[in-house]
Amino acid sequence: MLKVVRRLAVVKSALKPISDVISVRHCGTAGQLQYHSKPLTFSQVDMKILLLPALEDNYMYLLIDEDTQECACVDPVEPDKVLSAVKEGGFNLTTVMTTHHHWDHAGGNEELLKKAPGLKVFGGDDRIGALTKKVVQDDEFKVGNLNVRCLFTPCHTSGHICYFVTKNGGQEPVVFTGDTLFAAGCGRFFEGTADQMKEALIDKLGMLDPQTKVYCGHEYTVNNLRFSLHVEPDNQVSIAKKAWAEEQRSKQLPTIPTTIEEEFKFNPFMRLKEPGVMKFTKTSDLVETMRALRQAKDNFK
Ligand SMILES: [Zn+2]
Repeated sequence: MLKVVRRLAVVKSALKPISDVISVRHCGTAGQLQYHSKPLTFSQVDMKILLLPALEDNYMYLLIDEDTQECACVDPVEPDKVLSAVKEGGFNLTTVMTTHHHWDHAGGNEELLKKAPGLKVFGGDDRIGALTKKVVQDDEFKVGNLNVRCLFTPCHTSGHICYFVTKNGGQEPVVFTGDTLFAAGCGRFFEGTADQMKEALIDKLGMLDPQTKVYCGHEYTVNNLRFSLHVEPDNQVSIAKKAWAEEQRSKQLPTIPTTIEEEFKFNPFMRLKEPGVMKFTKTSDLVETMRALRQAKDNFK
């Protein structure tokens, strides 16, 4: 079978370089694996994150503890891609972290468990397939020597969980945000309220270390930044980020990760207190601002 070797690619963040971001040589077999973006590896001092594009614009991730090579997958909707990356890297896959029950995130769990029995499957919703441990706010578990803390962020769905990952003494936390927080945007309020999304984005995710890297569930960044600029046309950070994101996409490169600090600069849903955002929504109430933003985004073409 012909082997497809994906070209080495170097990722650079628009605002500041992410330390030790490296490229990955991803070998798939005979064109079976189709990607909307190039798969990439982000290496940090104490952990590694493999970004695996799935479906039309979803992202799955492998989270790898460098000490033990134990790894977890996040939202493995395409199990074969996940298992091929695990095999190729020689990792020990033990854990599934599911952000929410929607099929494009949880829909691969059962098939994955058939192919790799015995995995622990975490999630916050009984509708998640193959769930072995239902988690709530501040539940913690380990992936090798990595510490994972669950953040309950209901709104997009009523059982949505974000996963905050650190290593003892480590300086580079990461968070997997599913469809709650996107780069420059947030998920639709399918099963929740503006109040809940405000709590999720401002009171939970917004309180994390500003340097926390944000790995979200979809590649929506360019479109989200179009909306950011609809809300705040003069936001220079949004203008620069959009130009960078368009450049990345033209090369089929992901625009992920961002950081919490960056999100506060260009994500209108995290800028509820900014005069320009309140002017757009015509209210200074944070929850009403959130509600008005989401309504405007739902109708934004
Ligand atoms: Zn969803």
